[in-house]
Amino acid sequence: MKVKGVKEIENTLINICKKEIEQCSYEELYTALLCITEEESKKRARSVEGRKLYYISAEFLIGKLLSNNLINLGLYDAVKSCLNAHGKSMAELEETEPEPGLGNGGLGRLAACFLDSLATLNLPGDGIGLRYHCGLFRQRFEDQSQRELPDFWLGGRDWARKTGKTYAVSLAGRDYTARLYQLAVTGYEGRTNYLNLFDLDTVDPSVISKGISFDKDDISRNLTLFLYPDDSDEAGRLLRIYQQYLMVSAGAQMILEECVERGSNLHDLYDYAAIQINDTHPSMVIPELIRLLGKEGIDFGEAVEIVTKVCAYTNHTILAEALEKWPKDYLNTVVPQLVPIIEKLDEIVRERTEDASAAIIDASETVHMAHMDIHFTHSTNGVAALHTEILKNSELSRFYSLYPEKFNNKTNGITFRRWLLKCNPKLADLIEELIGPGYKKNASELERLKDFAGDEEVLKRLAQIKHENKETLAQWLGHTQKIRTNPDCMFLIQSKRLHEYKRQQLNLLYLIHKYFEIKSGHMPKIPVTAIFGAKAAPAYTIAKDIIHALLTLSKVIEDDQEVSQWLQIVFVENYNVTAAEKMIPACDLSEQISLASKEASGTGNMKFMLNGALTLGTLDGANVEIAEAVGEKNIYIFGQSSRQVIRRYAHGDYSAREWYDTDANIRRAIDFLTSEIMTEYGTQEKLERLQKELTNKDWFQTLPDFNAYIVRKEQAIADYALNPMEWAKRSLVNISMAGYFSSDRTIEEYNRDIWHLR
Ligand SMILES: *Cc1c(COP(=O)(O)O)cnc(C)c1O
Repeated sequence: MKVKGVKEIENTLINICKKEIEQCSYEELYTALLCITEEESKKRARSVEGRKLYYISAEFLIGKLLSNNLINLGLYDAVKSCLNAHGKSMAELEETEPEPGLGNGGLGRLAACFLDSLATLNLPGDGIGLRYHCGLFRQRFEDQSQRELPDFWLGGRDWARKTGKTYAVSLAGRDYTARLYQLAVTGYEGRTNYLNLFDLDTVDPSVISKGISFDKDDISRNLTLFLYPDDSDEAGRLLRIYQQYLMVSAGAQMILEECVERGSNLHDLYDYAAIQINDTHPSMVIPELIRLLGKEGIDFGEAVEIVTKVCAYTNHTILAEALEKWPKDYLNTVVPQLVPIIEKLDEIVRERTEDASAAIIDASETVHMAHMDIHFTHSTNGVAALHTEILKNSELSRFYSLYPEKFNNKTNGITFRRWLLKCNPKLADLIEELIGPGYKKNASELERLKDFAGDEEVLKRLAQIKHENKETLAQWLGHTQKIRTNPDCMFLIQSKRLHEYKRQQLNLLYLIHKYFEIKSGHMPKIPVTAIFGAKAAPAYTIAKDIIHALLTLSKVIEDDQEVSQWLQIVFVENYNVTAAEKMIPACDLSEQISLASKEASGTGNMKFMLNGALTLGTLDGANVEIAEAVGEKNIYIFGQSSRQVIRRYAHGDYSAREWYDTDANIRRAIDFLTSEIMTEYGTQEKLERLQKELTNKDWFQTLPDFNAYIVRKEQAIADYALNPMEWAKRSLVNISMAGYFSSDRTIEEYNRDIWHLR
């Protein structure tokens, strides 16, 4: 099968579908194109010379694959023309593909970008993960509140192929059979790698009862049913350990099997494999590999050395509550075979250091997964310059003084194929017209766009493309969510998981403030549309209260003749990669307002920048590097510095109540949450809970940044309204400096410093 040109695509489609294209349903066309794509990607699979990377991650938020794969395989234009010639539309075809629910946010999306870059750079690197039957959850809004529904994405034809390979995994003393599924990962004009996903044949969706609740005890039927099952109770936490062990045990067996097949005697495993542990979820791969090597006759000391040399660990957070630790009892229940190994590793640590806080197993018999990772891998990296510095100097300083050579930074990146070529074809075409196609694989070439910063014709086209993308988003919001928006307004977007540290509540307080300002006759320079997209973890009450408050405020404003002309709040339901691809190209101002020191990197910030949005943000995560790249004139920075924040935490002297008592604007905004009109539209209990949280606790220090945020945001809105050409120029500068944030650059650094492939 040769399918380069339109004619060949046409013939192949007709061959597969056995009828004329006009007569085919979109489902039939999708299935046929999936076959074509799989055939083409297979041809690009390559054998491995030397070391191969295994990227182990509990999440791969890969997004819909058809268009992305067609782009990578060089087939997209031909397929599109072919469909158009027969009255079919690519956009409608895309709608039929379900989005794979294999991740929940930035960490999983990063893993997906990395797979794309590995294949594009022709590096041998596979992913290892789990084949969840349901994604995180499908988000619905009812009565201005989030409701969670199961997200059955596996229904029709998906991309992961069942293989005949199985591995025995012992869970709580019983044997289970993990089956391998493989999903081809295409690279842009590159090789094909694989995402290896494990599952049990016995998993059974009928155990789901109401919403997303299910019987958590029946492991054989529920193990891979959900991504990150609710861990607010013990059964949920145990289930996470079951999931993690299934992934790492089957993964480790597969790795060793492949290496042996390629000639390894296991003593030389380092010459065949590099393993990257993405956050702590796959940490048990360390003791599991030691256990498996032991079974092959390698003594404990050597096995520890081998594993340390092969494995590397990426840290994604400094939030204490997000660093996984498990009661040893749990591990004794689920993975008794690993406990003696973890205890021996803990003994080794106690010989290396007297600092008890660096132990793996602490005095209360809790196992610290990150500690095991740092001691028994050769590399620990943070994901942005600031984050890595904070790890070295505060959060993990005791480990840094033990192993300074292990610590390094790898600033995150995003793949330009999905986050520009696929999601913003008009901008991609303009860039290609101006500087040629080289930037698609060599992102630093984007800098040449700067030559056009003074070219009014180019700036006008850039602004025009933004406007067209806003129209496209408006249409999409209209037909998918029945929300009317006006593309002539300024679009301010905050889309990311809902978390207090990301501070959607700060944006909320601003919008209340704005509501009052408009009521008292202070109109913004241009009507503003504040757009949100965010899922809150099902058991995270305050996060759900923030969603409720935003949805309620949205209604209050919508019904207010005066205010609604100037201000609209849009909360996009079920934020996922598909929604992100529509929202990001349409954004004027990107909200990256986490509390400084708390966002490890962020990658949403990079996607918005690449698509020409200006950033309103704190000096946090990769915002710091974005600010350095574009210069202070081309970004809106506000708020406390990470140093101030860390000092406040250390002194424990932050009092939200004081800010509330002394600042009238803050008081007015917070009090409004429980005002008559808000409680009329919303639920009093939820609004009161949020109000109490903000006045009594405000753990993420929203209030000290409130006034600075208002000032910078007003400035941005005024700049946008008063000087569109200058705005377009600054947008162009942002795009031109986005090259550094390509995941190709990130992967090249991982390879240079950690993996040493080829
Ligand atoms: C990029 C992305 C994220 C991460 O966004 P941050 O702003 O970095 O938290 C989360 N969800 C989706 C769907 C994404 O595409």
